[in-house]
Amino acid sequence: MVLTSVSTLSQAPRLPKAGETIHGHKFFIGFGGKGANQCIQAARLGAKTAMVCKVGKDFFGDNYIQNFKDNSVYTGFCGPFSSVSVSSTGENAIVIVAGANMLLCSEDLQKALPAIKRTKVLVCQLEISPQMSLMALRMAKENNVKTIFNPAPAFPDIDPDFFKVSDVFCCNETEAELLTGSSVTNVEEAHGAAQELLKRGCTSVVITLGPQGCVVHQAQQSAPKHVPTAAVPAVDTTGAGDSFIGALAFYMTHYPTLPLEEMAQRANQVAAVSVQAIGTQTSFPFKQDLPAALF
Ligand code: AMP
Repeated sequence: MVLTSVSTLSQAPRLPKAGETIHGHKFFIGFGGKGANQCIQAARLGAKTAMVCKVGKDFFGDNYIQNFKDNSVYTGFCGPFSSVSVSSTGENAIVIVAGANMLLCSEDLQKALPAIKRTKVLVCQLEISPQMSLMALRMAKENNVKTIFNPAPAFPDIDPDFFKVSDVFCCNETEAELLTGSSVTNVEEAHGAAQELLKRGCTSVVITLGPQGCVVHQAQQSAPKHVPTAAVPAVDTTGAGDSFIGALAFYMTHYPTLPLEEMAQRANQVAAVSVQAIGTQTSFPFKQDLPAALF
């Protein structure tokens, strides 16, 4: 089985036309998948994380696992063709249900339940089957574990229960647009979309807006916030959203009493570093690369 999360990236002077072959000057193998990216960003900031995932019995699978080890992510749950998710091995941990593919089943989640129960924050995306994401989020809520749901890759008619099990529903403009059916191209429209998503039952909504930072809406607080970010010379914004979510998970775990907009402001700063270098995980900062004020 080949891992679906491994991606390759080539840099070339321009995009090829259909059917055309052109010379590129750089080639990278990425170890992405949104969940893996988010997990690694959280780990680089100092969160204790472990990944449980399905990997192929091949070169890519071995490298994928090695990449987690290189980033201090616990890989004891990464088995060939085995189950998914990420988990904690103790306090201050983050569980990310990432899944290399759609093969994750409820049995796999049951196996991860002890780890989910011990974790502080569970992060789910839609890279695994939506039913499994929902099940994992429900497990977390039943065990008083905070949840971040990132509805990506998004589709319009997600199960309404996703909103009810999300402490933080975090998406980008495109995803917000798909989910609400309204245009989301500026801060004002993002406020409108966040309000609409909040009404569906989540505790808070964060919509990321690229160089404009993000908006934060919370059910308990009447004042929605735009959290701007500093202008930086962006060279590659791929994975910025994952860097943001990994950082948010880190802050929710290590600084749970910070106001959400302060966490979002710090996550903006982490993600802003990631856009200033090429690649996805290759551009994600480590704690030691960041100002001490962020910790
Ligand atoms: P996006 O997924 O594009 O909305 O980006 C996620 C987060 O990355 C944003 O909320 C910002 O914090 C950061 N970000 C993305 N693009 C830029 C940029 N051009 N300059 C600064 N920060 C950015």
